[in-house]
Amino acid sequence: MKLCRFVPSDAASPADAHAGIVENEIVAEVRGEIWGSRERTGQQWPLGAIKLLAPSTPSKIVCVGRNYAAHASELGNELPKEPLIFLKPPSSVIAPGEAIVLPSVSKRVDFEGELAVVIGKRCKHVKPSEKVTNYIAGYTCLNDVTARDLQKPDGQWWRAKGSDTFCPFGPFLETEFDPAATVETFVNGIRKQSASISHWIFSLDAIIRWIAQVMTLEPGDVIATGTPEGVGPLCAGDTVEVAVSGIGTLRNTVVASQD
Ligand code: ZN
Repeated sequence: MKLCRFVPSDAASPADAHAGIVENEIVAEVRGEIWGSRERTGQQWPLGAIKLLAPSTPSKIVCVGRNYAAHASELGNELPKEPLIFLKPPSSVIAPGEAIVLPSVSKRVDFEGELAVVIGKRCKHVKPSEKVTNYIAGYTCLNDVTARDLQKPDGQWWRAKGSDTFCPFGPFLETEFDPAATVETFVNGIRKQSASISHWIFSLDAIIRWIAQVMTLEPGDVIATGTPEGVGPLCAGDTVEVAVSGIGTLRNTVVASQD
């Protein structure tokens, strides 16, 4: 099932978000959040008459670094022995179609196409007998935009990973998991990254158990599962697309900072 968060194109207020089920170019509105009971209100919109929002408003975005061996080696890093975790702030989230702003403090901003998980149920300390899938609302595309030139000098990656607009995700939330899904990134239509998530070093099960040992994952929180090899720079004027098979394509433009 494909789900989305949206505002009708003619909405008076952009804060007036709705949740819906996407079926054949039509969005059927449901009550509450997309991980709720999914009770239909009867309202429907054509996909062309809505503006998609990021599928959730996370309290945090938890990211896994170096989860594909080929990406770790392209940046000269060793393979991690435990999941390498960092955070992006909720203030970095933008919607599908919105612009990634290149901050004036960086000379090198990279795309990182990733599959992301949205949590659907509060999760702390997953018991060995429990399945992590009980806590997952669905799967989506995410661009872990990174100011590469600030990553090493800063140590803590607050600027490299946390700048405003550095966390586009969407467009849809797919409830079914495909363990052979392909993550691809295109810049101006040219394919830059392509890999199967079967190449992950750490499974989703291991990642979620690892994170939930330490922090409570709330409904709407996002986990980004790492990027494959082929990362590269973005320039003002580019269009960047992250496509995950079976989910959809997250498309964003890139603009220079006006500051
Ligand atoms: Zn990443």
